[in-house]
This record gives sequence, C-alpha cells and structure tokens, in this order.
Amino acid sequence: MNERILLVDDSKTLSKLIKLKVINELAVEVDVAYSLAEAKLLIQKQKYTLAILDLNLPDAPNGEIVDVILDKKIPSIVLTGNIDKAFRTTLLKKDIIDYVYKGGIEDIDYVVTIIKRLFKNRAHKVMVVDDSLVFRNQMKKMVENLFFQVFALAQGEEALSMLEQHPDIKIIMTDYNMPVMDGLELTKEVRKKYTKNQLSIFVISSTDDSDVSAMFLKRGATDYINKPFSKEEFSCRLNNAIEALENIDTITNFASRDFLTGLYNRRYFFAAMESYMGNNGTNTNEEFITAMIDIDHFKKINDTYGHDIGDKAIVHLSEILRSHIQHQDIVARFGGEEFCIVLKEVTKDQAITVFERIRQTVALTPLLINENQEITFTVSIGVALEHENSLIDTINEADAKLYTAKHNGRNQVVY
Ligand code: GH3
Ligand code: MG
Ligand code: MG
Repeated sequence: MNERILLVDDSKTLSKLIKLKVINELAVEVDVAYSLAEAKLLIQKQKYTLAILDLNLPDAPNGEIVDVILDKKIPSIVLTGNIDKAFRTTLLKKDIIDYVYKGGIEDIDYVVTIIKRLFKNRAHKVMVVDDSLVFRNQMKKMVENLFFQVFALAQGEEALSMLEQHPDIKIIMTDYNMPVMDGLELTKEVRKKYTKNQLSIFVISSTDDSDVSAMFLKRGATDYINKPFSKEEFSCRLNNAIEALENIDTITNFASRDFLTGLYNRRYFFAAMESYMGNNGTNTNEEFITAMIDIDHFKKINDTYGHDIGDKAIVHLSEILRSHIQHQDIVARFGGEEFCIVLKEVTKDQAITVFERIRQTVALTPLLINENQEITFTVSIGVALEHENSLIDTINEADAKLYTAKHNGRNQVVY
C-alpha cells in the first residue's frame, strides 16, 4: 500500500497543482484538506508520512494548523505567502522540515524536490557525535526530521566502532572539543578508510577561529559549521552533501557497470580483481576459480528473432548468473554474449557444481519472447581451476577451456 501525504491548502488551484506534481513523481497518495477542520478529520482516519501545510486557512489564519499536525507527529513542510521575518523565526523554532514561500511555479517544484529528497534520505545513515547531551539530541532531531536514519554518540571512539558496524554510514556530524578523542582525531581516523567520495564529515563547533576550520578542511572534513547556526542552512547543507554523494555513486556506477545487464563491465572486473589480488594481479595467493561463459549459437538467435530478442537473451542469462553467485564473487559482462565469473572461497568440486548448475539452469529455463512463444538456448563454460602466472593468463586458460567446450559440441562445462 502506498504512503500518504496530507496537503492542507484552501486554494483549490494550488492544491490541485501540487497534488498532480507530487503523484506524478512519487508513488504516494495525496489527500487534500481545504481547512483546519477537514485536516483534523483526515488525520483521525489516516496515517500520514508527511504534511504540506498552508498557514493561512479560512478557519485558521495564523498558522494554527502547524501545532495540530506536529502534535500528531507528522513531519511537516510549511507553505506561506507571509514574508514577515519575526513570524518566520517563530515558525522555524518548531520542528518543521522546511518553510516555503508561495511565489510561483518554481516554489511548487521546490516542494516536490524536497519531498523526493526526504524519501531518498530514508535510505541513508547519518552519525551525530557530540559529548553534550542537549546538543546531541537537538542535532539528532534535526537530522531525523530530514528522514535520515540517525545514530547519536557521545565520543569519538564510540563513533569509530559504530562506523565499523555500519560501514554504509554516509555522513558524520561531529563536534570539535570532546574528551579523549576529539573531532579532529576522529576526522583523521575516518579518512584513513573513507574518501570524501564515500563519506562526508561535517564539523560543528562554536570555535569561530578560521585556523581551526582550515585545519579541519585540510584534514578531510567536508564542511565546517559554526554554532549557533540556522536550522534552514543546516538542512540545506546536509541535503546538498548527500545529493553530491549520490551523484558520485551514480557516475561511478556508470563507469563500472554494463548498461544492458547492470553487471560489472570488463574494466571494473580487472580493477577489482587487481586490488583483490594485490601486486597488479600477479599475486596468486588468494583462492579463487575463474570461468568464461558464452552463449551457444547466439548469432542464430539474433538472425532468427532480431537483435532486441538477442539483447533479452543476454539479460536473461545475466539474471541466471547473478542468482548463482555469492556476495563475495564477481560476475562481469566482458562483451557481446561473453561473461566472466570469479568464485571466491570455494573448493574445486564446489565450483564445478556451481558452473554445472548454471549450465543446466540456462538449458532448462526458457525465455518468453512474446505471449505464446518462448526460446531456449544453451551456454558453454570454460573453467580455470588453477592459477596461472597472472590474472590475464588465468582468464586465457578459462578461454581455452571454453573453446574446447565449443569444439566438443557446446552446452557443456570443461575444466
Ligand atoms: P558460438 O556458439 O561459437 O559461441 O557461436 P555464436 O553465434 O554464439 O558466436 P559468434 O561470435 O559467431 O556471434 C556472436 C554474435 O553476437 C555476433 C554479434 O553480432 C552478436 N552480438 C554482440 N554483442 C551483442 C549485443 O549486445 N546484443 C546482441 N543482440 N547481439 C550482440
Ligand atoms: Mg490560504
Ligand atoms: Mg557465442
């Protein structure tokens, strides 16, 4: 069942427009209320992930809706035409997510962007480190308000062990002065393992000495925020940081994955194996078994059914390959209908069983090409059970075995 967003605005045109834009871009339901009274009825009946609130309603002209909705623990974005600074300050003191002026269409777009951002934030972990309980809780609340998963800790050492347990933490917000391990030490330690492209570190400190901030930035902090700071600025910076990390992830994925199947490409395969093996891929101490896999008579599939069906066959095979490997293994598309698999931490017998099972599964799993037609194809597999002098030699050995499999009639595993 979809999540629900509550939209409270007395302007029918505006609420229609917002609703349309939101449901166009997100898989959510949007309920609209035109007054405080209607909103009260809705919140009794439904659970809401989020609320968008107009401050000027016929039965609540001064933002009275905000406390009603926040009392129900529904995170809220506020919409207003009122630009009075004092009013704005009062509102920002409440735990609202954001405060948006109703100007033009860009403001509606901004609301949609912020909702999308919040929904994506739920997948990300943020760690807050501060020895002051009051400040730690305050930060925790602010970060939670942006839908992040939050861990709040009092000490640098604790933070490091939390990072060990949750290596996918994306942002650390740390205080500078803390007993034992301070923010600077923490930053240095974290940077030994995580680059700026993997994890952002925000330093939040009341020291407004520019030497200190420069020192942090040189040591690998992503940003430095002086206490006290504006909640709005804090949210914007945090959202920007996570967006930047997501963008880097996307670009890295583009460079390392095959567009058709989503499997790793040849380039990534070699880079990953070389770092796994050490010594530019010539160290053969690590245990792994390599196989080359190729579709039999693939040209015939293309010639008979067309290139698109050929592509579908490649994707079909890639799904079978993916479902037969463990998380530590690597499967990559080397090009065309040729794949390479590396199995780690397996015995020779186990590896042969896996490859034989892959061969059988491919032969027994037809690909549906339209409502009443399916095709079946087979693969040949060449396995290098031993390590050669280098990764390339090992792959060539698997390739030679693959050639033998083809030569001997295809649909077989040769090792
Ligand atoms: P064998 O059993 O000996 O492996 O024969 P084969 O027909 O599978 O191999 P061959 O190397 O003769 O032909 C592979 C064909 O795959 C030729 C090429 O046009 C086609 N091909 C390469 N990349 C793609 C792709 O991404 N999509 C599709 N649909 N076809 C591709
Ligand atoms: Mg209004
Ligand atoms: Mg082939």
